[in-house]
Amino acid sequence: MAIIVNKETCRGCQICVNKFECPFDAIEFNSAEKKAFINEKCTACNACLKVCPFNAFEKTGSDEEVDLSAYKDVWVFAEQRDGKLMNVAKELIGEGHRLSREISEDTSVCKVCAVLVGDGIDGLAKECFEYGADAVYLLEDPLLKNFTTDGYTKVITDAVHEYKPEIVIYGATHIGRDLAPRVAARLNTGLTADCTRLDVKVSSYIDYAKKNTTLDTSDLDPESDDKGLKQTRPAFGGNLMATIICPKTRPQMSTVRPGVMSKRERDPQATGDIIKVDVKLAESDIRTKIVEIVKAAKEMVSLTDADIICSGGRGLGGPEGFELIQKFADKVGGVVGSSRACVDNGWIDHSHQVGQTGTTVKPKIYFACGISGAIQHLAGMQNSEIIVAINKDPDAPIFGVADYGIVGDLYKVIPEIIEEWENAEALFDARQAGK
Ligand SMILES: Cc1cc2nc3c(=O)[nH]c(=O)nc-3n(C[C@H](O)[C@H](O)[C@H](O)COP(=O)(O)OP(=O)(O)OC[C@H]3O[C@@H](n4cnc5c(N)ncnc54)[C@H](O)[C@@H]3O)c2cc1C
Repeated sequence: MAIIVNKETCRGCQICVNKFECPFDAIEFNSAEKKAFINEKCTACNACLKVCPFNAFEKTGSDEEVDLSAYKDVWVFAEQRDGKLMNVAKELIGEGHRLSREISEDTSVCKVCAVLVGDGIDGLAKECFEYGADAVYLLEDPLLKNFTTDGYTKVITDAVHEYKPEIVIYGATHIGRDLAPRVAARLNTGLTADCTRLDVKVSSYIDYAKKNTTLDTSDLDPESDDKGLKQTRPAFGGNLMATIICPKTRPQMSTVRPGVMSKRERDPQATGDIIKVDVKLAESDIRTKIVEIVKAAKEMVSLTDADIICSGGRGLGGPEGFELIQKFADKVGGVVGSSRACVDNGWIDHSHQVGQTGTTVKPKIYFACGISGAIQHLAGMQNSEIIVAINKDPDAPIFGVADYGIVGDLYKVIPEIIEEWENAEALFDARQAGK
């Protein structure tokens, strides 16, 4: 789709240039021809369509059919910050690997490709291969050092035009949620936000839907060769699951909730192709200026990256209870999580919240202290490798998912665990010293 100026109807009055402020500076005047024209900055946002009193602005190509067969491969936006590959990137490479193999086992038909955007980040390509990428697209430029919506959008959009991926997935992080809709609008394609499940094969989708939802799948054919992406996401606060498809445009794009998809086991031998993309970016393409990057303490809570999480619930009785949870977390090398009840009570910031409307986590050990185990909390932590529950009430539902349960007052149990941990550390140190 594009906007053009019809030269027959344009009278050269320049109202569009002088009075209408195109958000993208895409309207100019050709003094030789005495006609307005649209430059390459146009994003076909349609804002100008009613500006011309002579209706000289026209939309073209809106009914153009996209040639779906021209698109192939699964792309994963491999988010990095300060040159460190984010955990979500590794998870999505794992998921992209699964999807690409559902499309075809043959990598000449479909590959999973990590898209690395930044400056001086070529060293991360190896890590992408180790987590399952078949190829890496490298988009490097000093102007891409820090994330900006304009800069990243331009280079990714250009690369999509050039290489035509069939699927592009992004982590639903602050960056992914900012970037993906912008890219989708530029490409005039569909985007599903915050997905918790993706499927290509109809049979996998039916299996998933039967186990996890009440969706009626009786009219779906498990043998169908439909290879479109079925994008499932919770809607209305998680009270409804929606499966969304993008049948007419490409690429099919989703943001995916961090912590939900599984990483592949790291393979230190893995290698792949690196495709260096010729990035065309000028300072004038970026309208935002980064003045300062401030890492606020609350943003540093990285529940998704933590191996151990110590979470407190309403059973703490008040905000001061989190001092004990913090002490516990510091001792065991974990981070502090929380149930929504504590966040709603103002005892702790939302960035600590685990659950359906908080963060989904998958640590090695999850300690649930004074948390009853409501379904919305379980939705965010039940895939943890080991769950330890501490609760006064032996009938609390949290014991239904716990690997280890301690029935008791958390104010007695946690100090005892801390003490035992210290004893174990002392024992370990003594053993090391005696070696
Ligand atoms: C749409 C929607 C979305 C939601 N999203 C989320 C979400 O993302 N995350 C989330 O957590 N919740 C979410 N909730 C809220 C959820 O339903 C529960 O209300 C919440 O998880 C309860 O928090 P809790 O377990 O801390 O509190 P409670 O249910 O009150 O449980 C407190 C527990 O502490 C125990 N206890 C009390 N004193 C002690 C003590 N001294 N020692 C040991 N144990 C003790 C009690 O036996 C009890 O089991 C959502 C709800 C809705 C409707």
